[in-house]
Amino acid sequence: MSRKIPSRQIQIVPLFPGPPGGIQEGGELFDPTKALAAPPNARLAYQGGQMLSSVKVFTVFWGQTFANGALAGLPDQINGFFDTILQGALMAQMAEYDTGGYKVGNGTRTGSKVIPASPAQNVSDADIQAKLQDWLANDADFPQPDANTLYFIYLESGVSVTMQGEGSCTAFCGYHGNIGNNILYAVMPYPDCFGCRGGKSVFDALTGTSSHELCEAITDAIPGSGWYDQGNNMEIGDLCAWQFKTVDGYNVQLEWSNRSNACV
Ligand SMILES: [Zn+2]
Repeated sequence: MSRKIPSRQIQIVPLFPGPPGGIQEGGELFDPTKALAAPPNARLAYQGGQMLSSVKVFTVFWGQTFANGALAGLPDQINGFFDTILQGALMAQMAEYDTGGYKVGNGTRTGSKVIPASPAQNVSDADIQAKLQDWLANDADFPQPDANTLYFIYLESGVSVTMQGEGSCTAFCGYHGNIGNNILYAVMPYPDCFGCRGGKSVFDALTGTSSHELCEAITDAIPGSGWYDQGNNMEIGDLCAWQFKTVDGYNVQLEWSNRSNACV
């Protein structure tokens, strides 16, 4: 089943809602002229599908500059973000969506891997899926997928990602998807553009977008099948894109609350 891509407005790139079982974009480009508010009638409804009740994050940093170049400090910083945020208030906030036997609690970071061979300057989502499957098959550092495992794949600066005909920094700043409904992953292109930094530092932009995808993967592991706003074709983070707060010292995105009827 496919949905139509919404038509674009000038300088505003709407989310492309992936079909159920597909991919959900996140952290759409920041537009300083657009009011930062949830769409009218925002409401998440549970579609019966998988949630990640105790998420297990494994981070992957793909590129030579993460190993011994300009970005060599970033993996530890991002890992520190996950180590803290997975044990804190953001996870407690997700408990509002406990349902169907899923009780969202703390998560853990199960490990991290720097891949020192740089990717091509343009990589497609298919390339990333193939690489992830290759790593899972051949690199013992990678934990095998299970119902709570989420691979977060960070790309170094200068690498653009294409996905469903759209590009990073031209249409999206991150997304989460799956391979065969059982390998769950999120892709974090480097925020080389203003549209993916929104006036934030690179690190704050990355933690913001990462929190967006993290909360979406927890509440809607297979996009469109968990907690989903079918009227707006959006997940929990999309409804509150580019609205932020500080949690445990890190910049994170607000997330939609049905209970509060607001971004919180
Ligand atoms: Zn999203």
